[in-house]
Amino acid sequence: MTAAWRSAGLERLATTEFDLLVIGAGVLGAATAWTAALQGARVAVIDRGDVAGATSSASSKLLHGGLRYLAMGDLGLVREAHHERRVNATIVAPHLTRPQPFVVPIVRGGALPGWQARVGVLAYSALSGFRDGRSGRISLAEAVALAPGLDPSRLVGVVRYHDHQTHDARLALGALRAAAAAGAVVVPRVEALALRTLGGRAVGVEAADVLGASLFAISARAVVNAAGPWVDVVRRMEDQGARPSVRLAKGAHVLVSPAVPWAAAVTTPLAGGRVSFAIPWQGMLLLGTTDEPYEGDPGLVEATDADVEQIVAEARLALDPSVVDAASVRARFAGLRVLPVADGATSTTRRETIISTGPTGMVSVAGGKLTTWRRIGLDVVRHVNAGSGRPAPSRTPVPMPGALPLAGATAALLDAHPDLDRDVAAHLAHLYGSLATDVIAACEDRPELRERLHPDGPDVLAQVAYARDHEWALTVDDVARRRTTLWHRGLAGPAETARIAAELARS
Ligand SMILES: Cc1cc2nc3c(=O)[nH]c(=O)nc-3n(C[C@H](O)[C@H](O)[C@H](O)COP(=O)(O)OP(=O)(O)OC[C@H]3O[C@@H](n4cnc5c(N)ncnc54)[C@H](O)[C@@H]3O)c2cc1C
Repeated sequence: MTAAWRSAGLERLATTEFDLLVIGAGVLGAATAWTAALQGARVAVIDRGDVAGATSSASSKLLHGGLRYLAMGDLGLVREAHHERRVNATIVAPHLTRPQPFVVPIVRGGALPGWQARVGVLAYSALSGFRDGRSGRISLAEAVALAPGLDPSRLVGVVRYHDHQTHDARLALGALRAAAAAGAVVVPRVEALALRTLGGRAVGVEAADVLGASLFAISARAVVNAAGPWVDVVRRMEDQGARPSVRLAKGAHVLVSPAVPWAAAVTTPLAGGRVSFAIPWQGMLLLGTTDEPYEGDPGLVEATDADVEQIVAEARLALDPSVVDAASVRARFAGLRVLPVADGATSTTRRETIISTGPTGMVSVAGGKLTTWRRIGLDVVRHVNAGSGRPAPSRTPVPMPGALPLAGATAALLDAHPDLDRDVAAHLAHLYGSLATDVIAACEDRPELRERLHPDGPDVLAQVAYARDHEWALTVDDVARRRTTLWHRGLAGPAETARIAAELARS
């Protein structure tokens, strides 16, 4: 049976003359749709898979200035990214954005001399206006207290700096919900197959309902291609001879469960300009990432055993071997960076946003960073509006639905539901902000919705019902991987999967 929201969405896609059709519901498609919808445009967003189902759920989950981009001389990118992480943390998504101290271990005989690390974090802090607390050298004892997995016997020094972290898929989801609240029609599992043109101008797409296998046309006065790693596939729909505009680089991550909580993340410099991250995330440790050229089908990207071995070996350059081994990996995933076509190693390629307008007027966007998603959305809409008489979009940041500082959101939830476990309340407040009360509201009629999906994690059954009714979730994977944190914790076993499937099947 098709969900009511999906039937209504498909109907609107087939019958509305949109101002803008966005192909791709990753974070950049979401940003574009929200910006345009706020301007009053009639907007549609489609995705061949789940929302945030590709790169936007496979990142390192950092909102960061990008310490290693400093080493690449990209001062403008670092300054802008610092600004944007602060805008996310204070206005747009404060519940979803956590401050994250980092330490850089200076490994004996390692890739980075201590003086360079000290100068680097000083410049990095300066580019963010020294607004995040003290950066610079700290003692080994202080470092081990912050990141208990560090192996001090291998280190000759440690420096500290500051960034933020988030839940990437839920950030994209939040932007899509904001777009929908401003009037956009969002329908996942609809694939753009071909571009429709009139007088040489793009006027929509031929589309397929991936689940129902029906074909239909979507009409729009403008089309944005935000297809991420598939950006050139969609560009070739308007120009079969279009030369590649991007190249792809795979990055893999693994999650392990630390013996004790870590307060700081670890950034270990590696040869060739890469770093190894160990980031406390949702009570787990997120380790990565690799950076290898990728030329296959983007839909088949996966973290291999060799990736896991590499991540573990690189983490062990500064961490005690007992902290991480391949057997303790709870989950692994990989995504594709979209980089400008350039010579040289992918790890030294600038993380630029690539925006271009094709021969039919279709605007294509790819690359960039999760951190600067909002700014990229503004840029894309400026490109779409060029020559249309529409004004440039407002740069003023707007809170997404549920935006509330985490402490306030947790306190409000516990005030309304004092019997909720504290870890569950804090978790729901982080993922949903002030909307956490809506997630729990359904439990009045069905008390079983308060039950944890797994006794070792804070996700509850009510999140499945909420994902089904309000967040476009259709499959167990949608819920386990992108609406909750169950899969990342290695807790999506057969019993949990069956329970989620049963709840999704209710209407
Ligand atoms: C390993 C890795 C780590 C990263 N870490 C960070 C980080 O910590 N911080 C940071 O700021 N940035 C990070 N990034 C970058 C960031 O994740 C990306 O810039 C961002 O997610 C790109 O989003 P997107 O919307 O362009 O692409 P995607 O999220 O890939 O979205 C594109 C969407 O288009 C859809 N699509 C494709 N073709 C079609 C079609 N024909 N019809 C309909 N839909 C279609 C796809 O299904 C997909 O959902 C990282 C990237 C990688 C790969």
